[in-house]
Amino acid sequence: MSEKKDNDKENFLIKQYRCNFCNAMHDVRIKKSLLDAQTKYPFPYVFLHNTIKNGEAKELITILYIDRDGKVRGSEIQEFSTNDLFSKEQVMAIVEPLIKEIRILQQDNIKLKKQIQELQ
Ligand SMILES: [Zn+2]
Repeated sequence: MSEKKDNDKENFLIKQYRCNFCNAMHDVRIKKSLLDAQTKYPFPYVFLHNTIKNGEAKELITILYIDRDGKVRGSEIQEFSTNDLFSKEQVMAIVEPLIKEIRILQQDNIKLKKQIQELQ
């Protein structure tokens, strides 16, 4: 095993994920620091992968819900061909979890600022 791969094992969780859409196993590399940084579990982890269906290349947006132990608790798949514009639903599926995360981070930020002020 190469040095790089050893390092990967240390920093990444490699999850095997069975995709209902292309019926294949995918390796998903999730940064451990990302897992540790969450304030709520399960948290949404979004990734893209390509598949070929009926001779047409498609990109799939996959959202995995990961719990504190790094286990996959659920998943959602959105399909679109690369020629399509994103539908509103697809955009929302991507953006909504991110907005939630941002709100949580903002709240944490406010809390931490208060704690710093109290310490001073
Ligand atoms: Zn797939």
